[in-house]
Amino acid sequence: MMFDLRFAPAIIFAVLLLFSSTAAERWGFFGHRRINRMAVFTLPPEMIGFYKKNIEYITEHAVDPDKRRYATKHEAVRHYIDIDHWGEYPFPEVPRDWTEALMKFTEVGVLTAAGDTLLLQRDTVRGQVFISLEDRGAKLSAPYATAYRSFFEQYVKSQYYEDSWVVECDALGALFGLGAGSLDCRSAYAVDHFSEYGIVPYHLLQMQQRLTEAFRQKDQGRILRLSAEMGHYIGDAHVPLHTTENYNGQLTNQVGIHAFWESRLPELFADEQYDFFVGRAEYIASPKEYFWEAVLASHRLLDSVLLVEKELSEIFPEDRQYCYEERLGRTIRTYCREYAEAYHRRLAGMVERRMQASVHAIGSSWYTAWVDAGQPLLPASGEYAPTVAEREEWQELQRQAQGGEAKGRTHENE
Ligand SMILES: [Zn+2]
Repeated sequence: MMFDLRFAPAIIFAVLLLFSSTAAERWGFFGHRRINRMAVFTLPPEMIGFYKKNIEYITEHAVDPDKRRYATKHEAVRHYIDIDHWGEYPFPEVPRDWTEALMKFTEVGVLTAAGDTLLLQRDTVRGQVFISLEDRGAKLSAPYATAYRSFFEQYVKSQYYEDSWVVECDALGALFGLGAGSLDCRSAYAVDHFSEYGIVPYHLLQMQQRLTEAFRQKDQGRILRLSAEMGHYIGDAHVPLHTTENYNGQLTNQVGIHAFWESRLPELFADEQYDFFVGRAEYIASPKEYFWEAVLASHRLLDSVLLVEKELSEIFPEDRQYCYEERLGRTIRTYCREYAEAYHRRLAGMVERRMQASVHAIGSSWYTAWVDAGQPLLPASGEYAPTVAEREEWQELQRQAQGGEAKGRTHENE
């Protein structure tokens, strides 16, 4: 297995510092770039030529999804899941299927002629699940997993990217076997109460399918772009603080721990200490289960991430926890190196192991998509030249990321 850190030129590192001082986000730009780059070396001979030729692209575009958070509010939620919002490990109340999760936590309401609002309810009768609605004193019901699911997919989920979701009264009536105009319904709506708590495992599965499709079509531009972005989301899913409502320690008086764990520690120690030899990419038999396991494994580490820092902060001299550092002419407040070293030591290799797991998962995801697409022949020579449209789109992303305000949650190091 080839493993060579010479691939990280000093220039890129300087640019990285520039970015990381203004916005240290999610594995930091440093971590995302590094794990995407290293994932290339897990690939089999049939794939590695193409990816090596384009390793700069795979590295550079590792952070596009974070930049896109400035362009659309739908982006932020793809990077995390506050799974503890919904219950306790292993979270049986959270459907692993995307449509089911949305169905379960989407409120559908009907405004009646009299001006009352009635909500659709989920009922279980003798082990069978139904969706039901009160209509002028009578109870209407329909099978949840079949009829409601197709209704939901056609009339509700199809509006996912709309600002507000409107439901047709007649479609709702038809769900319960009523003719047009028969339901007491002046208007109906649906509200998604699920996505705001994060959707990373579901998004990973969608990305896997898109990447497979790109391989099927032998579309080099899309293969590279989706590979780079897939790497980003897989990396995020491996970060324990991406799986909790307490994502920046704000509930436990540890504000700043997010960037501390995923940016500061790798930036200080990855080059000096980490071994990124992770072996070969492996075929993923069930991507859905695999991505969920990655998220759950991250969550199992969450207590340690928080407790270890909490305990350390109580015994470490307070005036030596935070330091001021000069970075390209700006003074920033950050965790002191000595404090970071103590935290890192107490984590006993956790950050390194999560980075290694990310690298292996990314390579395996790319490899699986390629296999599922029928192992298409990839060009082994020549760097891919992005089209004019692709280049313009990327410049636009850069522009928005530099000047803009992120939509949705940010994990900035302020
Ligand atoms: Zn991210």
